[in-house]
Amino acid sequence: MAKRDYYDVLGVSKDATDDEIKKAYRKLSKKFHPDINKEAGAEDKFKELAEAYEVLSDGNKRAAYDQYGHASTDPNFGAGGGYGGGGFGGFSGGFEDIFDSFFGGGGGRGRNPNAPRQGSDLQYRIHLTFEEAIFGKKETIRYKRDEECKTCSGSGAKPGTQPKTCSKCHGSGAVGVERNTPFGRVMTQAVCDVCGGTGKEITDKCTTCHGHGHVETDHSVAVTIPPGVDDGQQMRLNGQGEVGSNGGPYGDLYVVFQVEPSDIFDREGTEIHYTLPISFAQAALGDEIEVPTVHGKVKLKIPAGTQTGTNFRLKGKGAPRLRGTGNGDQHVKVTVVTPKNLSEKQREAIRAFAAAGGDTLVEDDANFFDKVKDAFKNKK
Ligand SMILES: [Zn+2]
Ligand SMILES: [Zn+2]
Repeated sequence: MAKRDYYDVLGVSKDATDDEIKKAYRKLSKKFHPDINKEAGAEDKFKELAEAYEVLSDGNKRAAYDQYGHASTDPNFGAGGGYGGGGFGGFSGGFEDIFDSFFGGGGGRGRNPNAPRQGSDLQYRIHLTFEEAIFGKKETIRYKRDEECKTCSGSGAKPGTQPKTCSKCHGSGAVGVERNTPFGRVMTQAVCDVCGGTGKEITDKCTTCHGHGHVETDHSVAVTIPPGVDDGQQMRLNGQGEVGSNGGPYGDLYVVFQVEPSDIFDREGTEIHYTLPISFAQAALGDEIEVPTVHGKVKLKIPAGTQTGTNFRLKGKGAPRLRGTGNGDQHVKVTVVTPKNLSEKQREAIRAFAAAGGDTLVEDDANFFDKVKDAFKNKK
């Protein structure tokens, strides 16, 4: 019978993220778990799901599957010499195992299946306003993660019972398989199909975790976001990821910051940019203007004769430096606004200003306009 496409099995698209794949698997595996679903065919569905998940949750296996389809999951795939590129390491029963048997003492014991392994890392996105990113924040975040089952303390066996040593592999987690390789016939090791590599068989499964040893649990962590974080930056929280296996440590949680832009400020690292519109009179005569900063209003002195586009610096009014002390600066760029919709009185005042010599440009500007005129003359 033809195998179903792994993406179809999980009901996800070809470009699904790792997270989407994991979610889909969790949802469907609960639905078809043989301990829960007694319908005919549920167990086969569950096995099919597990197989699809095993491949799609592993970057190397998934890449190979995307390229070569179901052939990539054949234990002999990659050993026949047809597969040219790298990436052998990820296959079960691939190159790694061949080297193991060559250099590991020829058919010796592979890696210890019961060695403690750290759990997977998780990612959590925190949404921050522009100001929260600058001043920091304390927040308690809640998410689901796999935790050690409290009923069986992670053993997967019903309390009072013990997992027994696997009858097929006698606890090693691996079985010997003879295989054709580019080096000839070689005895290699494959993961034991009875215990799935754990070396243990659980006859009386814990009813809380169905033998997995871990359960999905609502978890919360208090996070202290330091002042000065920026959009896209992340923070690692040790041990807040998923449960490890065989008593290994928990994985880590990566908190990623998503910072909302501000309506009035632009931020570039520790520097904040602000555009200040001023009137022609303020630019010509000078003024003292209150300017908003994230640290509150600050008085800025505009000297007489300020041109549009001039930049002023407000020292220490930017965002805090994450590593180090103090703040960046706020940069204020002045834009002179030409007045519109003048009243008759205002027009009169400007005419008087022009008549008093205000319509002649200062020398530098006059020279510039002369050059422009000359340029047009030369074209004729
Ligand atoms: Zn349990
Ligand atoms: Zn076994």
